[in-house]
Amino acid sequence: MMKKILGILMLLLATGCVQEQRLSSTRELMGTIVTITVIGEDSAAIELAFKEIEKVESLMSRYDPDSQVSALNSEGYIENADTLLINVLRKAEYYSAISNGAFDVTVQPLLELYTESFRRKRKPPSDAEIKETLKLVDYANIMIAGDKVSFSKEGMKITLGGIAKGYAVDRAVEVLKQNGIKHALVNAGGDMRAIGSKGVEDWSIALRNPRDETDYITVIKLNDKAVATSGDYERYFIDKSQHHIINPKTGKSALGLISVTVITDKAIDADALATSVFVLGANKGLELIESLSGVEGLLITEEKEVIRSSGFSE
Ligand code: ADP
Ligand code: MG
Repeated sequence: MMKKILGILMLLLATGCVQEQRLSSTRELMGTIVTITVIGEDSAAIELAFKEIEKVESLMSRYDPDSQVSALNSEGYIENADTLLINVLRKAEYYSAISNGAFDVTVQPLLELYTESFRRKRKPPSDAEIKETLKLVDYANIMIAGDKVSFSKEGMKITLGGIAKGYAVDRAVEVLKQNGIKHALVNAGGDMRAIGSKGVEDWSIALRNPRDETDYITVIKLNDKAVATSGDYERYFIDKSQHHIINPKTGKSALGLISVTVITDKAIDADALATSVFVLGANKGLELIESLSGVEGLLITEEKEVIRSSGFSE
């Protein structure tokens, strides 16, 4: 008996020994909580990675009146757009094209219409108001020429809320890699990317049940991969039927799914795809995931049905 207890104790000690030195740091950035965890003790690298996320935020935030996105939204054009902004706009354009317009960063006037309507009338906007505002929504009206970006319709506005967080994660990962980090996890409010494994094991991420905080759906193992989730439960106007992901075809909140998780190599792709699939709905969304190589997804319908793509591993 004594021997057995001793054995277990030894085992615990042994696992304790292989347990790596882990350094974790958290900041509030990009409208969410960002945590960077590295195996090792490189706090300087973490600091540089946070700086990079701050840079992305200062360029792309709608809430920062000095950001390039704010300038573009108020003036309708900008010159000297930063390469990082151009990168994101081009990626956004790509996802708009392959999602048949489900992903569209020009939905911002609709989001403002909803916010205003709830503020003033405590109800959603009328169909007539939505129809009028929809005239401003079309990604094809964003013109990019070199470092100049312009809108071809007055009153257009963009939001990079469905893609910039993923990009910020990717940029932070690049900075960590440049600084020699071999094992890390960057997590921006659930959009995350791993560099390598946690050491001995992969990073494991519990995907929580969107309707029950105490429960989780599955555990995702990450090793040099990214994951992002779009859901109707994080941000919504008053009730969950009016949330922040807009179907650009109807001008209303996307219906049918309550959560979409996408796993792929880069966080920008996972982020944009999760939003795209959320808008597309279960059938077309799954079709899009299956058409892309190296992309897997887990979809949860309003009826709580969990749908996994063909290569989604437990
Ligand atoms: P979260 O913000 O919860 O991480 P998403 O990644 O899905 O979720 O991003 C939602 C954000 O994307 C919205 O707040 C808005 O800024 C933007 N957005 C809403 N609808 C669309 C759409 N159809 N295409 C692209 N971006 C969208
Ligand atoms: Mg997204």
